[in-house]
Amino acid sequence: MLVKHGARRLRTSAPAIIRSKQNSTRASDSAGIKPLESILIANRGEIAIRVNRTAAKHGIRTTTLYTDPDAAAQHAHSSSRSFNLGQTSEYLNQAKILALAKDHGCQAIHPGYGFLSENADFARKCAEAGITFIGPSPSAIDDMGDKARSKEIMNAAGVPCVPGYHGSDQSESKLASEAESIGYPVLIKAVRGGGGKGMRIVQSAGEFSDMLSSARREAMNSFGNDEVLVEKYITTPRHIEVQVFADKYGNSLALGERDCSIQRRHQKILEESPAPELDDSIRKDIWQKARAAAEAVKYEGAGTVEFIFDNDTGKFYFMEMNTRLQVEHPVTEMVTGLDLVQWQTMVAEGRRLPLTQDEVEERINSRGHAIEARIYAENPDKGFIPDSGKLLHVRLPAASDDIRIDTGFIEGDTVSSHYDPMIAKLIVRGETREDAVRKLAVALEEYEVAGPVTNIDFLKRCCESKDFAEGRVETGYIPKHHDELFSKRQPTPEVLVQAALSSLLQSQISSPVSDSTTSLLSWSAPQSNLQSRRFHFRTDDEDPAPGSSPTIYEVEVQQRAPGSYQVSTLGQSYTISSTFNPLTKTLTTYFPHTRHTSRIITSDSTSSEPGIPSSAPIHLFTPQGSFRLQSATPSWVAKALGTTEKANSLLSPMPCKILRVDVKPGDVVKKDQMLLVIESMKMETVIRSPGEGLVVRRIVHGEGDVVGSGVELVEFEEVEQ
Ligand code: ADP
Ligand code: ADP
Ligand code: MG
Repeated sequence: MLVKHGARRLRTSAPAIIRSKQNSTRASDSAGIKPLESILIANRGEIAIRVNRTAAKHGIRTTTLYTDPDAAAQHAHSSSRSFNLGQTSEYLNQAKILALAKDHGCQAIHPGYGFLSENADFARKCAEAGITFIGPSPSAIDDMGDKARSKEIMNAAGVPCVPGYHGSDQSESKLASEAESIGYPVLIKAVRGGGGKGMRIVQSAGEFSDMLSSARREAMNSFGNDEVLVEKYITTPRHIEVQVFADKYGNSLALGERDCSIQRRHQKILEESPAPELDDSIRKDIWQKARAAAEAVKYEGAGTVEFIFDNDTGKFYFMEMNTRLQVEHPVTEMVTGLDLVQWQTMVAEGRRLPLTQDEVEERINSRGHAIEARIYAENPDKGFIPDSGKLLHVRLPAASDDIRIDTGFIEGDTVSSHYDPMIAKLIVRGETREDAVRKLAVALEEYEVAGPVTNIDFLKRCCESKDFAEGRVETGYIPKHHDELFSKRQPTPEVLVQAALSSLLQSQISSPVSDSTTSLLSWSAPQSNLQSRRFHFRTDDEDPAPGSSPTIYEVEVQQRAPGSYQVSTLGQSYTISSTFNPLTKTLTTYFPHTRHTSRIITSDSTSSEPGIPSSAPIHLFTPQGSFRLQSATPSWVAKALGTTEKANSLLSPMPCKILRVDVKPGDVVKKDQMLLVIESMKMETVIRSPGEGLVVRRIVHGEGDVVGSGVELVEFEEVEQ
């Protein structure tokens, strides 16, 4: 697997080699130092692999865990000692994990992020069992894990907070009246929330009740607690956070800040350090407030203090503290040249922080700019709905000192719908921000993933959008730049021809007559000889409203001789030659002025969920960018021509469970009116009416039903064009 370490990492073979006068390990401290020789990694995916890498580098033995759906996952094979916890949710089984740690002589547990990482109860049980929890004390987790309580502590410590109500009266009337006095818009947040879940913006009093119950349901579902707080919704903020570190001796450091304003679903997708266009005095002030926050709870280890920064006023407010290693920690590693997992281990061993604040700043000032892009299996064109399925093809950009890829998957692995759909993190460093942004755009262009839909193209469009490139970021960036970021590219004739030849080949490879390996190896040229064939495609991202037609592209292919074809599409017609390499499964087509190469992915393996078959899209990576084309089946073509009564139905965008149905047959609905609420991967998505004045004819599935992708959900009366 191509996984690259952080650029110019601390070149030390043992921890704490770099010593400063202020923080040097004194002889009197060595009594408190307990070197770690064996740790258990209680997490999965890229973070388990990343922790393992540092452990291996420092001669620490690791034990990893997996669950039934993760049995074939990379992290389960990243250590020679790996144990099956059983069912999907067992990464949260505290007793089982502790018993394994004890039985196998692990001195410490690294919890990664998510799962048990911010669970004070678990940290307490570790201590009782004599196992070091690599993280802060249970009381610091308790103080900070509750967004309401942490705000009280911060207010007392002189750290500014967003105005709001975080009291214990959870009655709807109290919360609504507090919202009224804060003034709309307000934000409802689960006090135990994380990962952007359990959060709802409320624009006006009329929506409050619905939004409150939705936030509570999601919070209960994700965090087992439905307490909420209400705070002022800041309309044009940036998300700026500070990486802090503290040791057992009361020393704290700010390892710079990260700007994580580019978000969807209140969750980060691009993170960078330093924050662009930020006044140096404000920057230093934020660092200082973050250290004060850490010190207020006697923090130990790695933590992140998140602030919301009002671009208009230059004021910032404490939002929350994450008492764990953060997903985006590599950005900080790139700009400090430090290994934060190694630092976590050092602190857990009872060592002092090895640098002073001045020394950290010196490093930050000389190491340029870093950006991370989170690569997710999700569909930006359908509201960033998570996707899952087998990674049929993966091609990574070349890793280097300045390009790092942290991933838990390789080609052939499956992104499971049971867990987070993040596939990888791509982190780049440049001398300047401009340099880093350019490198990131190129690396994203080089990154190919076929199988689940990903956000790679979307991330690339973000990098290339002018305001981002020039550092004008804010949390509302994506909706504000909608037209620019979601612009549709039309497939070129070359792309369509390549898709048609791929389909032709694919149908031969996966023909049930022979198994795919032999037919691949014996393939020379389609033998459908001189007869001409027509193919129909539609782009995968096009989601036509009921009653309107998707664009169908037709390609006609006629074979003239083995490997030589006469093709026509989009009013163009030409003779081309095409070769197929069965070993690499690549199809190369020579057009008059260019060449297209694509991997042929056999369709038998594209079913994303057991029991929920889906049609296989064709993935093409071309000089014009990547395309996903869906073969337009006869029923689709018929639908496009408006000849079936299914033309006015709304289809499920992904495999999901129907939580709520808000309309009934006969209802006339407005555009964007809420029709249904569905749930997938513990996330709620509202399905809204695609048009104005539609009449609901039939609700095909009821509450509680579990359906696959592309299943009819609501049928409307015929819509007059
Ligand atoms: P970060 O703040 O490090 O960028 P995210 O907020 O995106 O990370 O969350 C990282 C992962 O941890 C996600 O998988 C998210 O669902 C999970 N997560 C975060 N906070 C919690 C929490 N309190 N409880 C459970 N899972 C959480
Ligand atoms: P989580 O624990 O899910 O990470 P946060 O409290 O950190 O929740 O908020 C997540 C994101 O939601 C922030 O990064 C920011 O974009 C947005 N957000 C949070 N609070 C506010 C607010 N008061 N006003 C506007 N946006 C906010
Ligand atoms: Mg947060």
